[in-house]
Amino acid sequence: MPRTLKVITDARACTICAKHLPNKPRPLLQGSKQSRILLIGQAPGQKAHDTGIPWDDASGQRLREWLQLTDQQFYDPALVALIPMGFCYPGTGKSGDLPPRPECAPEWHPRLLKAMPNIKLTILLGRYALDRYLPEGAGPYKTITAAVQDYKTLLKHHLIALPHPSPRNNIWLKKNPWFEKQTLSVLNRQLKSALR
Ligand code: SF4
Repeated sequence: MPRTLKVITDARACTICAKHLPNKPRPLLQGSKQSRILLIGQAPGQKAHDTGIPWDDASGQRLREWLQLTDQQFYDPALVALIPMGFCYPGTGKSGDLPPRPECAPEWHPRLLKAMPNIKLTILLGRYALDRYLPEGAGPYKTITAAVQDYKTLLKHHLIALPHPSPRNNIWLKKNPWFEKQTLSVLNRQLKSALR
């Protein structure tokens, strides 16, 4: 197990936006100096907050299938960094979970990314990650679908956008069969090369 980075320890003790959160802060993130793949999602849900394990649900299972990673590989910070746009569960609104807290990424991401110099591929999941990390020369994308489709441009910047793996997104997957037929094989090739 790699040594825990100081910035990870610091982030895990963060309480910056505690007054806006429904629970006591419980920042969920992983990463190490050796991490090779960076996954930037939205924010943990209530279940992850309760268990303290990110992506420990049906979405996470599908995500690992897409990435062709075992649970052990996925939760190994020497391989994968899990750095969402908000580290704590933000609460629920009228139409599902609230957005990631806006204080979080600007406060923590720059220090974290600097401490992980071996990232070979960054996976962007969701609009907030895409908006923050869209490189010059890519997009702008009106929809996540457009970003997922434009993997050739994003890969030039060592990025790839994925749709949300939630079972609630099954309709999207049915409407866009090219994703599982073509994009995933490109992603898997990139991942293999990033992990080599
Ligand atoms: S969401 Fe981010 S900024 Fe807010 S308390 Fe948690 S770690 Fe800190």
